Amino acid sequence: MPDFDSRARDLMEQLPEDSDVTHEEIVDLYEKCYGFKITGNDLDNIVQRKLAKQTGAEVSTGAQGGDQHYEITDLGANHDEEWISLTGQVLTIWDDVPDGIAQKGRIGDDTGTIEFSLFEKSLQSNPSLEVQEGKSYRFESVVGDYYDERIRVRINSRSSIEEVDRSFSPPESDVIGLLGVIVDVVPPSGLIKRCADPDCSYVLDDGECPDHGVVGDHEFDLRIKAILDDGEEYHRVVFPLEQTESLTDISLADARRLAEQEYDHTVVEQKVGDRVLGRHVEIHGRELDNYIVVNEAAEYSLRQTESEATIENSAEQLIEQLQSVGRSA
Ligand SMILES: [Zn+2]
Repeated sequence: MPDFDSRARDLMEQLPEDSDVTHEEIVDLYEKCYGFKITGNDLDNIVQRKLAKQTGAEVSTGAQGGDQHYEITDLGANHDEEWISLTGQVLTIWDDVPDGIAQKGRIGDDTGTIEFSLFEKSLQSNPSLEVQEGKSYRFESVVGDYYDERIRVRINSRSSIEEVDRSFSPPESDVIGLLGVIVDVVPPSGLIKRCADPDCSYVLDDGECPDHGVVGDHEFDLRIKAILDDGEEYHRVVFPLEQTESLTDISLADARRLAEQEYDHTVVEQKVGDRVLGRHVEIHGRELDNYIVVNEAAEYSLRQTESEATIENSAEQLIEQLQSVGRSA
């Protein structure tokens, strides 16, 4: 659920003083609409229309040029459905895009990169939104879109895009090596369904693809999203198919069989969780959208440290003493 608090606060300030609408009511309204899967422009429009009807005041969120400017690395889950602005360079525009989408690719600034999309209907109503590969722009009033644990931005008909004369060099994503313990498995992990459209690999949420809507067809995949504790901090890591298979000894075929037997594909998440939780692993991977995508993983056995050995010895001695007490009594 996005944080609708600041948008409600924004709207409250625009309402006449004698209006009896409360901050909580606005947040509730946002949350209710969001619960019905109303997002982006539609969401704000509904809330604004409703407030206008109730109070007679013209109010609006976003697209005011007043939305906050961010560096890409600072964007995350809490920016879902938020109006944001950023300045960056269009690094790539993908050739194959799903129906209904005019442009899709990656934007980078000096702090990171992010995926963007521009829908056909937005481009039709505002042709100045088209971007070119290699050029830099200031993107105003784009909307954060957090899905499958990754933040992206949507350019929409109320966005404005202005070319800027600047180039950016996003940080190279180096190979990261870590040793740590897997302390949590994050859903959706295990057997997941991806959109079967050949140009799309989004994970389906309840049979729904963010680009294609409800899709009848899907492809199975096996993965683990996990939290790795290296003793200093927590890292979000994702093990793709091959690494998941070798780490859990469960193949994609096994996983599908298991899900079919149980009539439930979430049993696989449980099963892979049981196999990996608490295990010590050494991983190598690259950072992508706040996750480390693992391309090598190996288990390592933790050598007993001296203090642990001492504790174990004294525990054994204690047990022996207690047993001998028990015998003599
Ligand atoms: Zn799709």
